[in-house]
This record gives sequence, C-alpha cells and structure tokens, in this order.
Amino acid sequence: MLRRILSRTTEESVVECRHCGANVEPEADSCPGCGSTEIASYEIGS
Ligand SMILES: [Zn+2]
Repeated sequence: MLRRILSRTTEESVVECRHCGANVEPEADSCPGCGSTEIASYEIGS
C-alpha cells in the first residue's frame, strides 16, 4: 500500500525562498537551505 506523505497544510499562504525556491517556514527569517533572506510569501485564495 502506498503511503502518501502530505506536507503541512498551507492553505492560507505559501512561503518560498526566492533564491532556491525551497519551502520556508512562515516564521523563518531566512531560508534553512541556502541561508538567503529573500523570502517570498504567496497567499492562496480560494
Ligand atoms: Zn533558499
């Protein structure tokens, strides 16, 4: 049986690093992957 790994529910907004495009915690000030502080947040509207 396949087990699907679901990411955390990000229905309200998606926060990504503008440098590497990794998902970043909304509370994070910098990207944990590359250390860039260029964080972009996108609000997902229904
Ligand atoms: Zn990054």
